[in-house]
Amino acid sequence: MSVRTLFDKCPVCKKGVVRKPEAKSFFEKVGAALNSGKYICDNCDSSFTYTKIQPLTNFEFYKLNVAKEEKNKKHDGRNLSLHEWNVILKNENLDLLEWVEKTNNLPKMNFDIEKFILDKNESSVWYGASTLCEERMIRKYDSGHAGIRLAKGIYVGKSVGHAESHPELKQIDAGELMLTTQRLMFNGQYKNYSIKLKDINFLDKWTDAIEVGKKSRQKTMVLGIEEPDKWFTLTQKAIQKL
Ligand SMILES: [Zn+2]
Repeated sequence: MSVRTLFDKCPVCKKGVVRKPEAKSFFEKVGAALNSGKYICDNCDSSFTYTKIQPLTNFEFYKLNVAKEEKNKKHDGRNLSLHEWNVILKNENLDLLEWVEKTNNLPKMNFDIEKFILDKNESSVWYGASTLCEERMIRKYDSGHAGIRLAKGIYVGKSVGHAESHPELKQIDAGELMLTTQRLMFNGQYKNYSIKLKDINFLDKWTDAIEVGKKSRQKTMVLGIEEPDKWFTLTQKAIQKL
């Protein structure tokens, strides 16, 4: 963290500049060093504290602490990414999803991440750390028996009643996920996937993941992410807007 000015215009009062406090004396310098993660508005005294949520260098979160009596305390105590604070700043204090809902638009976030190369007519919508899981059928047999698999969990042959099959979710990779206006891209340690939004035929959300189904693919992909609501709503909106 070496940025001096966090916001040219404070998201709380829209008047001041939010920056790192300048040390005037030696003792202030010591104090400032202790609070090096803190950015303060020179007008309303609201402060933003840098917090690291995900181990990703491009994702910076800042927690707001409204210090003064301000009319709009809506975002007090909230811990949002720099990109989201910028959405609030530019869009009349609306949260990202509120803004998406109200304007029926997708945010253009301009995440500048080397690993994801975008087309000219494509822009980034959301980005974050992700795991990739796949549902796999695990088959168990009693020794000496073998059945013929007809469908999920149904077997015929001598071993009826002995063989069983159940789906198991396996994490197969970990990396980063990016949603753009055209694609959902996973960049993992071992595998890269680029799913065109127009090919998605199934989308669901869990408390810690989104599940994505693709036309040509039998199994769905389960992408473990933080804030599934955000990923789900933004992906859904991006598909609608194709
Ligand atoms: Zn302010």
